[in-house]
Amino acid sequence: MKLIFLGPPGAGKGTLSALAKERLGIPHISTGDLFRAAIKQGTPLGRQVQEIVTSGGLVPDELTTAIVREKLESPEAAAGFILDGFPRTVPQAEALETFCRIDHVVSFELGREELMNRLGGRMVCKNCGAVYHRFNRPPTVEGVCDLCGGQVVVRPDDEPAAVARRLDLYQEQTAPLIAFYDQRGLLRRLDAAPAPEEVLETLIRMLEHLEG
Ligand code: AMP
Repeated sequence: MKLIFLGPPGAGKGTLSALAKERLGIPHISTGDLFRAAIKQGTPLGRQVQEIVTSGGLVPDELTTAIVREKLESPEAAAGFILDGFPRTVPQAEALETFCRIDHVVSFELGREELMNRLGGRMVCKNCGAVYHRFNRPPTVEGVCDLCGGQVVVRPDDEPAAVARRLDLYQEQTAPLIAFYDQRGLLRRLDAAPAPEEVLETLIRMLEHLEG
């Protein structure tokens, strides 16, 4: 099954992708993860996109599309995939249509206030990557990771200015994709407010119904 997870940053696409890929037995392809890994490893791609990603901007369409195309045409993606974070603009969606046929576009729906709350409070351990939330799930000792004692920090693109920019860019550039895919009969709406396990069950039922 070839799926796109579409929705604003903070709606839980990454969390749900991690759960759904196990259940569906297909890989999770996240452009954000690909860029962050390249930055961490200091590759030429990483150096090229570092400033854009940390400030919450968008990587140019051509570069992003070329990376996705290579991934989707690899044997690993032949039986299907979950595409998370791509496409993010209409030109990316138009380019994708030229080399791939998608089965379903799952639209994660969540209000802006809840998004700001989820994103604004997100913190990660610099050492082991454990994820915390300032209000919903703070570490026992402020700033110290419960698991490894590492420093718990806010990701640069989760700083308030970058969060606001990412949400604005979503509204301007990505939200038009909802109508784009609706017109093509591919859009499947999903309420992203409940706990991840519950959202997963709803998603699986929805896909079974569509495929059945
Ligand atoms: P994410 O983890 O999906 O929120 O992505 C993190 C960052 O990677 C974004 O804020 C962008 O800077 C960049 N990025 C990820 N996917 C795309 C895309 N499809 N087009 C342009 N930039 C992207």
